[in-house]
Amino acid sequence: MEKRNIAILGSTGSIGQQALDVVRQHPDRFSVDLLTAHRNTDLLIRQAREFEPNAVVIRDESLYKTVADALQPLGIKVFAGMDSICSLAAADSVDIVLTALVGYSGLKPTIAAIKAGKPIALANKETLVAGGPVVMDLVRQYNVPLLPVDSEHSAIFQCLLGAAGNRIRKIHLTASGGPFRTWRREDIEKATFREALQHPQWNMGAKITIDSATMMNKGFEMIEARWLFDTAPEDIRIVVHPQSIIHSMVEFEDGAVLAQMGHPDMREPIQFALSFPDRLTLNNRKLDFPAIGSLTFEEPDFEKFPCLGLAFEAIRRGGNLPCAMNAANEAAVAAYLHEKIAFYDIPRIISEIMGRTAFIEKPSLEDILQTNKEAFDRANLLIDNK
Ligand code: NDP
Ligand code: MG
Repeated sequence: MEKRNIAILGSTGSIGQQALDVVRQHPDRFSVDLLTAHRNTDLLIRQAREFEPNAVVIRDESLYKTVADALQPLGIKVFAGMDSICSLAAADSVDIVLTALVGYSGLKPTIAAIKAGKPIALANKETLVAGGPVVMDLVRQYNVPLLPVDSEHSAIFQCLLGAAGNRIRKIHLTASGGPFRTWRREDIEKATFREALQHPQWNMGAKITIDSATMMNKGFEMIEARWLFDTAPEDIRIVVHPQSIIHSMVEFEDGAVLAQMGHPDMREPIQFALSFPDRLTLNNRKLDFPAIGSLTFEEPDFEKFPCLGLAFEAIRRGGNLPCAMNAANEAAVAAYLHEKIAFYDIPRIISEIMGRTAFIEKPSLEDILQTNKEAFDRANLLIDNK
């Protein structure tokens, strides 16, 4: 494999930092072209000093001077703002773009990178939730590889490498069940955001950790799988697997099921997306089956986790509804993290916003941007009037 020059969008986040750990382990295989952050100047500057990228972007323009003063003397180009993230992700020197921004903010730069013909290592699932049909059309039009980073989708992708082109009968999408799997509904009702942030298996950014507690994350992943693998939502079955050893499974026409396994460690799918089709060494924990003993599986509880049902409803009706759902979720999760609303207000707000969304069956990119803005603003109005 030739050395790859990576643009890491969201390098200061959980995925971004783990991606840099992968780069650190393989300096002969990877180099860094671009690092971006929203407001975390300290970490961005430290990362840039270590990895010496061609350029960095700080999203918050008011922090430009802090970053420029620290890095320009080292010959690293410094930019600010979303437009710079988009244009630098598309730069000629970039070989592959890792999209690890959080939420809807990932959509525009991902589209810019696709239009520049860059292979995408996709962590930012909200891009496909909000803009699935539009993004997939562009992926086909520009013929770019879309390599999944989300562990479940990396697992499915890996299982499909052994499929020899045969049709998928079913995808079994595994879920840890999150921190509230064994809690009673009346206790979840009163759960604080601190309790919701205690994920049993994965250490991730705050938003996705709350999405895991509501199980909206699994709803998003079902939609992500629907687009990545062109699979009907009814052929995607969610199965709760608390040990998070099997990252997902693919069933074929003859009933044969392929699974991909490993200890929960995001560096594994990140590295595979960046090195594909090669497999490189990784200093992770390897599986010891007798020590694990048993793997267990359960049905997901749609009563305790109404976000699951909302996600199936949104993708079944299609059009701009998943986009509205995503925007309402983003507003509601932020409000929950600021202790403005209670846990079950999250699905209540999403459901209300989905009900009020003017349905567009075949949304354009413009429609997606408009739907996102309207749903986000309306959700915030609901939150403020509570
Ligand atoms: P984090 O919150 O840890 O990191 C987000 C990154 O994006 C940070 O670099 C942050 O900068 C930057 N950022 C945040 N908001 C904006 C914005 N509005 N504009 C520009 N940059 C922004 O998130 P994660 O790493 O956990 O998740 C990233 C994506 O990957 C999400 O879509 C998530 O669903 C997905 N994912 C994450 C997994 C995980 O294990 N963490 C697993 C599977 C998928 P700053 O640090 O300055 O705020
Ligand atoms: Mg996942």
